[in-house]
Parts: sequence; C-alpha cells; structure tokens
Amino acid sequence: LVAVTGLAKSFGDHEVLTSIDFEVHAGSVTVLIGPSGSGKTTVLRSLNTLETPDGGVVRIGEVEVDFSGPAPKGSARKKQLAALRDQSGMVFQSHNLFPHMTVLQNVIEGPTVVQRRPREEVMGEARRLLDLVGLAEKADQYPYQLSGGQQQRVGIARALALRPKLMLFDEPTSALDPELVGEVLHVMKDLASQGWTMVVVTHEIRFAQQVADQVLFMDGGVIVERGTPGEVLANPRTERARQFLQRIL
Ligand code: ATP
Repeated sequence: LVAVTGLAKSFGDHEVLTSIDFEVHAGSVTVLIGPSGSGKTTVLRSLNTLETPDGGVVRIGEVEVDFSGPAPKGSARKKQLAALRDQSGMVFQSHNLFPHMTVLQNVIEGPTVVQRRPREEVMGEARRLLDLVGLAEKADQYPYQLSGGQQQRVGIARALALRPKLMLFDEPTSALDPELVGEVLHVMKDLASQGWTMVVVTHEIRFAQQVADQVLFMDGGVIVERGTPGEVLANPRTERARQFLQRIL
C-alpha cells in the first residue's frame, strides 16, 4: 500500500532524513522506533504532507508524488500534495480537538465540511466509530469533560471518519498519564486486528512486540535496522539498536 524510496529532508543545513526506503503492506502495522531527533516524526509528517520532502518518492495507494527534481508548475504540485494527504489520517501526540465542539461534532466536522459527505450518513458512521473507540456514551460531551485518554480516542475516531487508507500515529500515548496509556493502545490493537494499515511512532515496546508486523529502527535520519519485532527488538544486530533498547526497556 505504501512505498517510500529515497526520502530526504533537510531543515536548513540540518539533514534530518537521508534516503529513507520502506514499504508497508495493506493491513499491516509498521512501528518506527529510535532516539529523540532521529527523524521518526519527520517521516510521518512527510507521508501526510505536513512536511514537504526535498527528495525521494512517496506512494500511498494510487497516489505517487516524486519529490526529486523540480516540482511541477502552477497548481499541479498542490493537487498532488492534496491527493497524497487525503490517503492518510494522523493522530498526534496531543489530540487537537476543537474545544467548542462536542465529541460528535468533532468527529463529523472533517467528513461533512471538508469532504462534503451527506450529514446523515456521516452521523451514523461517526456514532459507529465512537462505539469502536468505546465512547458512544460521550458523544454529546465536550473535550474538557473527558480524560486525556478519552480525548485521544476521540482523536482516533476523528481521523478514521475521513476514511483514510492509512493511519499514522505520532507518539499517541506519550503525553498521557501512565494509567491512561493502556486504553489508547487497546483501541490501536483493535484497529490492527480489524485490518487497518498503520504506521506508528512509539516508545511502547510491548505494543510493538505484540502488534507490529515490521519494526523500523531509526537513528540519525536513516533506518539502521528493520525486520519483525523478533528480529529488531529481541535480537538487534547493531550496537546502536542494542543500546537504545537497553535504555528504554
Ligand atoms: P522525537 O522522538 O523527539 O519526536 P523524532 O525522531 O521524531 O524525535 P523528528 O521530530 O523527526 O525526530 O526531528 C528530527 C530532527 O529534525 C530534530 O533534530 C529536530 O530538531 C529537527 N526538526 C524537526 N522539525 C523541524 C523544523 N520544523 N525546523 C527545524 N528543525 C526541525
């Protein structure tokens, strides 16, 4: 479903990503791990076009954008980026819910306003998604009335409501109190078992062990190791991965 080749990104003189290559098969879970500053978030943001890469090719589903060489003229690049962005839904470290809208309004906002889908249809789907994340009874509450874990689960429902092909999670539990982490990981496990294609940046190694089909270990803007959780997490080949895992386990 996803193919990334030669992905590169610099901020000024700082080369943050150097020729990243990976693939994600439909229905699989890829977990990105690595030290702070290794470029994990920048990879996710590049898939979602929140960052524009300086080089490489990103394909998600039928949409392929080539960032090497000059950008196409006029609005053509914008159209490409919009098409690529529509392929994925993103869940951030903090949920970014609209504070003045109820839970249900938060979930239906994107599908009705941006995608202009019929309100009735979207409402039914939004209620099903809230049920999926265990929050059906909170539909009419406001974000401030929910716990951090519940807010994050609304964030997941909101991303799913846009019907993306791919779900991206950027450290979705790292801003939560420890006792709220489990409920969010539980929802993510459910999504994985339902066949959602997911790319997850996380320090939750147990989640990676249990759910990942593929683990990518990044350091210094490159993928240093890749493989199954059994390979990368249990038997790392490189000293860098060994040291990192020792520190976080
Ligand atoms: P973390 O776990 O801390 O989020 P990460 O592996 O996700 O780390 P990135 O957030 O991708 O790493 O950042 C990689 C490097 O790029 C860091 O050195 C960061 O300071 C730098 N960087 C990220 N975004 C920008 C930006 N908008 N402008 C300048 N530098 C940036």
